[in-house]
Amino acid sequence: MSIQSIGVIGAGQMGNGIAHVAAQAGFSVLMQDITEAFAAKGLATIDKNLQRGVDKGKMTVEEKAATLGRVRTTTKLEDLADCDLVIEAAPEKWELKKQLFETLDAVCKPGAILASNTSSISITKLAAITKRPGAFIGMHFMNPVPVMQLIEVIRGLATDDATFNAVMELSKQLGKTPIACNDFPGFVSNRVLLPMINEAIYALYEGVATVESIDGIMKLGMNHPMGPLTLADFIGLDTCLFILNVLHEGLGDPKYRPCPLLIKYVDAGWLGKKSGRGFYDYAKS
Ligand code: NAD
Repeated sequence: MSIQSIGVIGAGQMGNGIAHVAAQAGFSVLMQDITEAFAAKGLATIDKNLQRGVDKGKMTVEEKAATLGRVRTTTKLEDLADCDLVIEAAPEKWELKKQLFETLDAVCKPGAILASNTSSISITKLAAITKRPGAFIGMHFMNPVPVMQLIEVIRGLATDDATFNAVMELSKQLGKTPIACNDFPGFVSNRVLLPMINEAIYALYEGVATVESIDGIMKLGMNHPMGPLTLADFIGLDTCLFILNVLHEGLGDPKYRPCPLLIKYVDAGWLGKKSGRGFYDYAKS
């Protein structure tokens, strides 16, 4: 099927990034959030990020205006009835996504594809909420969306070939590189990344090295752009714990057991950069 119009659910960090790249690629975008204020905030972030492109000479003022002009906002899910594809980027809560997809399945036109940007919830389980599991797929964008190249495209058990092919093609039109995987806990990205982060936290917990040494060794030794503890602070320690619990419960292997130090930090409200304290103290900077 040919995708012309794209709906995005949630105007937060990921949602506004997805709307940004879709509009920049020439698609008509409708971005939905629960209040006008949240939607406006998302639009303002797109404006600010596009302006950066103008300032760097990567885009003209006219191109920026045209891109912004392709993004409309709404608070009503019913307004997404005519979209060819809807990408959901609402908070990572099962009950919330369940309600959203029940409604989207009822309001979206037959043949429309429903996609979720979930980091950890089963695509197969989300698809089963709808009466169109064949037209349901995972599109896992990376943060920050306008910068990061990858879209991890996740096939649910029932995802049909037409949906998969349409989404692979669309991802390329968005200027991204789609890479396919099957639907198992953590997909590929988080299944490989989170055990590394967890192991780094265990190394700290067991006194193998300091925070700075663990990050320094991994950064310089493995040529990673940032150390695992810095990355954990950036992702959010609550999010890291949530994903590790999904891996631990979903795969049933003790190797995914979250480090007690991570649990303690989350209990203390030390959630990383967003709370001002994690493995590093951001109040100082
Ligand atoms: P966020 O909190 O920045 O944004 C969520 C947005 O959804 C907010 O604007 C909120 O107002 C809105 N929202 C809340 N309830 C809603 C509803 N019922 N209907 C419509 N909108 C609603 O969160 P985020 O970081 O953008 O994450 C969104 C999704 O993307 C999650 O599933 C997350 O797991 C996934 N994800 C996040 C990252 C990341 O690094 N942040 C990376 C990949 C995937």
